[in-house]
Amino acid sequence: MGARAGNATTSWRNWAGNQICTPAVVERPRDTEEVVAALKRAVAAGQHLRVQGAGHSFTAAVPTDGCLVDLRAMNRLLEVDHRHRRATVQAGMSLRELNRQLWLAGLAMSNLGDIDAQTVAGAISTGTHGTGENFGGLATQVVGLEMVTAEGAVVRCSAQERPELFAAARIALGALGVITSVTVQCETAFVLRAREAVMPLGDVVADLDGLASRNEHFEFYWFPHTETALVKQNNRLPPGEAPAPLKPARAFFDDEVLANAAFGAVCEIGRRAPPLVPALSRRVTRLLGSRTYTGPSYRVFTSRRRVRFVEMEYSVPRAATGDALRAIRTVIEREGLRVSFPVEVRVAKGDDIPLSTASGRDSAYLAVHMYRGTPGYERYFRAVERELAPMEGRPHWGKLHYRSAADLAGAYRRWDEFQAVRRTMDPAGVFLNDYVRRVLGG
Ligand SMILES: Cc1cc2nc3c(=O)[nH]c(=O)nc-3n(C[C@H](O)[C@H](O)[C@H](O)COP(=O)(O)OP(=O)(O)OC[C@H]3O[C@@H](n4cnc5c(N)ncnc54)[C@H](O)[C@@H]3O)c2cc1C
Repeated sequence: MGARAGNATTSWRNWAGNQICTPAVVERPRDTEEVVAALKRAVAAGQHLRVQGAGHSFTAAVPTDGCLVDLRAMNRLLEVDHRHRRATVQAGMSLRELNRQLWLAGLAMSNLGDIDAQTVAGAISTGTHGTGENFGGLATQVVGLEMVTAEGAVVRCSAQERPELFAAARIALGALGVITSVTVQCETAFVLRAREAVMPLGDVVADLDGLASRNEHFEFYWFPHTETALVKQNNRLPPGEAPAPLKPARAFFDDEVLANAAFGAVCEIGRRAPPLVPALSRRVTRLLGSRTYTGPSYRVFTSRRRVRFVEMEYSVPRAATGDALRAIRTVIEREGLRVSFPVEVRVAKGDDIPLSTASGRDSAYLAVHMYRGTPGYERYFRAVERELAPMEGRPHWGKLHYRSAADLAGAYRRWDEFQAVRRTMDPAGVFLNDYVRRVLGG
């Protein structure tokens, strides 16, 4: 039997510290059989059941006062299929460990988000994505799942086996069942060349489509109160070209000192003295430099985020990227907000997953952040949401937003398809919590 903690004072909190819960029971299964047993115990006790990943969602996607299942002991690589370049792993493995294991096997994920701290199942369940106009989010790289249903049955799904369940289950907020293993489609391990350049915002906006199409993975950060953008262009290193990794001292200075320690200090000053933020932001952008380097794909895609923040991110149709960015800028100016965190802009290829924020359309993502503990973040996020929601905007399921099922239904063309699968998979609402009730309906 897996470890079971019945201690009602065991509380859970997420990375940002803005979500907290005290579950009646915490289960720590080590394999699928133990997940089945945990689920049966919860159902017998009349408890709702939620799974926790690495707690990196800003929304209340995890909290429950019923049974909380911690799958992080289910972190093993189960199988590598070299012929098809696929790997099957237990659902609680972290992306960091997945990337490491894949690299050892000569494989890599085609695309990743900014960090690698999430669990594999937690990341896909909210639609975690990176950037690239020819690349989908992490869930599009999944080709098979094993799940435990509300009835305690173990089912597998893929494009061939139970295709309706597979379509829905890749991004399902834990509302369809407990994912116990994930099969990912990989590619042969590759090296990325990263080019980071400081550019005038106007030039970036004028050439958005060009930058997105000339680069496999393009994104930029705009620093509010300035005209400056930091543009990141990541491309596979052509065969035969020599790698040029960063010197360790430079990497440490840029990634730890500038991006984390110094930036954290600036955010802290800005939180205590908001009127200083515009001048501080201008200083920060003057410190930014351009650099080009190469590295294993997963190390270039991801970085460590030690400065804690809260975030909202909206997907809009690609054609609306410029309008959406202008709207955010107007909100900051009109509301007199002082924002020390940059606005991050990324792109993604449309996909066929019902609850994907890129479902059925090529999309751009615009993310707004506030340093943790900054009063007024909600005013910022709500004002941005008011502008972006009418642009066919869809909020990231794992990042803060204020929408609910009634108006989200109209934003997703395949909403009913997802709900039909949900009615079959969880008719009694075993996997409900307040957030799922709010965004997907009770
Ligand atoms: C610093 C930081 C950087 C980030 N960068 C990005 C980024 O670049 N791109 C992006 O898109 N997002 C990003 N995010 C958001 C993050 O990727 C998502 O919120 C992701 O879902 C978190 O994964 P997790 O493992 O922490 O899952 P949790 O937040 O713990 O859980 C997420 C959801 O998955 C469910 N779940 C977890 N495991 C299972 C399972 N086995 N079966 C069924 N349901 C399950 C949970 O119940 C919950 O509903 C970032 C977040 C932070 C804090």
